[in-house]
Amino acid sequence: YFNRLADQVEFYFKIPRYLPKNLVAACAKPFMKKIAKTPDFGTLDWVEKNNKQRLDIYFGGMDEWKKLPSKWEDFDIIKFDKDNSAAEQFKLDHGYDETKPEAELDIEDMKQAAKFRGGECLSETMTKGDMATKLKWKCGHCGAEFEASPALILLGGHWCPECYIPHKAWDYDAIAKTNPFFAQVWYPNHRKDENNRYDFDELFHIDGVAWDDIKR
Ligand SMILES: [Zn+2]
Repeated sequence: YFNRLADQVEFYFKIPRYLPKNLVAACAKPFMKKIAKTPDFGTLDWVEKNNKQRLDIYFGGMDEWKKLPSKWEDFDIIKFDKDNSAAEQFKLDHGYDETKPEAELDIEDMKQAAKFRGGECLSETMTKGDMATKLKWKCGHCGAEFEASPALILLGGHWCPECYIPHKAWDYDAIAKTNPFFAQVWYPNHRKDENNRYDFDELFHIDGVAWDDIKR
């Protein structure tokens, strides 16, 4: 793939191929450093200005950043097991009996799935196996009530339109605490003691212009 890619790009992208590797590294380093020092967005800028919020998001805090090795040799590179049989242990629990055929799913399965998402299924009845007709649901995190088909929730992985498609803030640490389904994909790379909430108004307050004005 990379050879094929390299054959098709403009000639100047190919120049580094014919230069000694350490020369490429020596040239690339200051270039990458400049990007990393971009005010507000660069990782080194956050370190220099002790931008706590960004450091917390990205590295898990300044202390974690300080622990990063400075040489590649010192990094503990994780080798992923590409054998598909290992994938079984990473399968998500979808919060209902997945051995049941779709045609057998009923309102009890919906209630169970909603509970596993930290919320409720407000509908009292459904036609057994009807995955298309919308039901009423309630989010346990923000309290929003919404309509969605069983297919969208159970098979599509969607949930609350307010929380899963946030308009005002990223509040996933709090969501993970109330939603076991979501917690499965959140905690593999977040600590349970993290309590970060990222308000868009604060996060995207650029040159004095708040998020609400930028997005317009
Ligand atoms: Zn919600």
